[in-house]
Amino acid sequence: MGLLRKLKRQAGPQGKQQKPTKVVVSCPGCKRSIKLERCIRQRPLAQVDGVTEVGIECPACRHWTHSFYETAEIKRARAELETVKGGTLEAIAAAKETFAIIYKGEQERVAGLVASMVESGRDGAG
Ligand SMILES: [Zn+2]
Repeated sequence: MGLLRKLKRQAGPQGKQQKPTKVVVSCPGCKRSIKLERCIRQRPLAQVDGVTEVGIECPACRHWTHSFYETAEIKRARAELETVKGGTLEAIAAAKETFAIIYKGEQERVAGLVASMVESGRDGAG
């Protein structure tokens, strides 16, 4: 019965030129839209030596949004990951898995250190 109009569309020309995608996020502090790649900052973590905290700083209100911690372990693991590029799929998959484990472990380790320092800073005032 019904007439069915099918609109078939090819999914665009094959993307040869890859433009970096501009990611815009909303600042939790002032709710402004901020361009992610322009606001990514690195700063040494005050509580833990040798750790860099990476996050987003809002240019308008300076609100800081934590993204992740960068540690020597993670740098080493990332360098390791670079070395397997061009290797077998198995080698790459294994290296990625190792990196993910180290990355996650380091995030938890540093977060734990920061948390314990906040705890210990609290008592002793009485
Ligand atoms: Zn803001």
